[in-house]
Amino acid sequence: MSAPVARPEVFSVASYVGGESSIPGVARVIKLSSNEGAFGPPPAAMQAMSGIAAELHRYPDGGMARLRAAIGAAYGLDPAKIVCGNGSDELLSLLIQAYGGPGTALIMSAHGFSIYEIAGKLAGCLVHKAPERELVADVDAILALVTPETRLVFLANPNNPTGSLLPDAELARLRAGLPEQVLLVIDAAYAEYVELPGYDGGIGLVDAGENCVMTRTFSKIWGLGGARLGWAYAPPAIVDVLNRMRPPFNVSLTAAAAAMAALATPGWVEHGRAHNTQARARLAARLTQAGLRVHPSEGNFLLVDFTTAGRATAADEFLRSRGIIVRRVASYGLPHCLRVTIGTDEECGLLAEALNAFVHG
Ligand SMILES: *Cc1c(COP(=O)(O)O)cnc(C)c1O
Repeated sequence: MSAPVARPEVFSVASYVGGESSIPGVARVIKLSSNEGAFGPPPAAMQAMSGIAAELHRYPDGGMARLRAAIGAAYGLDPAKIVCGNGSDELLSLLIQAYGGPGTALIMSAHGFSIYEIAGKLAGCLVHKAPERELVADVDAILALVTPETRLVFLANPNNPTGSLLPDAELARLRAGLPEQVLLVIDAAYAEYVELPGYDGGIGLVDAGENCVMTRTFSKIWGLGGARLGWAYAPPAIVDVLNRMRPPFNVSLTAAAAAMAALATPGWVEHGRAHNTQARARLAARLTQAGLRVHPSEGNFLLVDFTTAGRATAADEFLRSRGIIVRRVASYGLPHCLRVTIGTDEECGLLAEALNAFVHG
């Protein structure tokens, strides 16, 4: 019998595996595996979602004009240069489909976000990974991989799962060193958490030319990962390309309503960022004190080094026995590490306590 056969690219990737959310037999799970905001969705976003329920027979405005205006107002950006997506993952894939494809190459850093590799291979691109320096992206190593086939360079800044951040000057050096026809995609999913003065997420580089895009998300500090909403800030020609590529109604009515209510919540980002900075420093100090190596992070997570893969696995199992789920990162080439999300103070306390017990038991 013969059956339909998908394109070979499809079988060149494994499905994306998200952070787990349950442990058999454990009632209260502490989920620190997906970098979701520590405080749940903004209450106004929940209200807005139920408030829009009576309109659900209507299609959303495919162009998301009101939402783009609200994002533009909140972030001080021109709404005409914003495109919304079903999560920023969708926009990353669309950029790859539009600018990549068979016969082209995509460059990412060695421990960069896995979606770039998955979406790149699915589109038929060759995916090249540039070595990093101490788990920080290396501009010279990226530039050294550029060939005439290169069309796209992806950089998460801050990067997931390492937490590392390239200073704006390094990003500018990267852009300046790339051929003009290569698109630089700066994935700033964790931008709202960054406290570094001068950091702009990539906005300056987008505004400076025709060949840089910044992507953002409502899945992290905004607490709306389940709603699926991301956005890209891009030069007009790339906005036009994305609008041709995207499905006509890629953002749901409910996601848009939730996001607009979230944006209208005073102090939500400031509160989330202040908590994160404090809780992250405290957790890092406690884990370091317990004898673990913690990598510097600008995101809402920490990469914890257990020296060997065996010890990382044992720590993961120990945490699970206490109802705590964190993220294994072996698929990122970091089998000796675990990535832990910064939760509430209580969650961070329980995690620190458990890891302390693991180290000393
Ligand atoms: C979480 C995350 C995203 C967000 O993806 P969404 O599709 O918007 O939920 C994008 N990039 C990185 C690096 C992330 O960690």
